[in-house]
Amino acid sequence: MSEPVKVQLNGIDWTVISKKPRGKGHIGKCDWEKRELWIAPSLAGIQRFECVLHEGLHAQMPDASEEAVERMGVELTELLRACGAICSAAESIQPSEN
Ligand SMILES: [Zn+2]
Repeated sequence: MSEPVKVQLNGIDWTVISKKPRGKGHIGKCDWEKRELWIAPSLAGIQRFECVLHEGLHAQMPDASEEAVERMGVELTELLRACGAICSAAESIQPSEN
């Protein structure tokens, strides 16, 4: 994903950008004012899947706490992986050159 991607989340148009947020260890960002999700381009595979899901959950549920979003992202990723629902899709994603 090198170009920004347009998606609809929570009935609103969002742009997903391949860009690392500021801050040490930050890999994703949900900017409700700009309607942008940032995903660090270095992420790949299951880590990328979980980050996209996490930021998407922030867009879907703006009032949910960070703890709730974190738990849902981790647990749903594990559920889908355990059921074989994301294995091939997540593993086929290649990291960006950035
Ligand atoms: Zn978060």
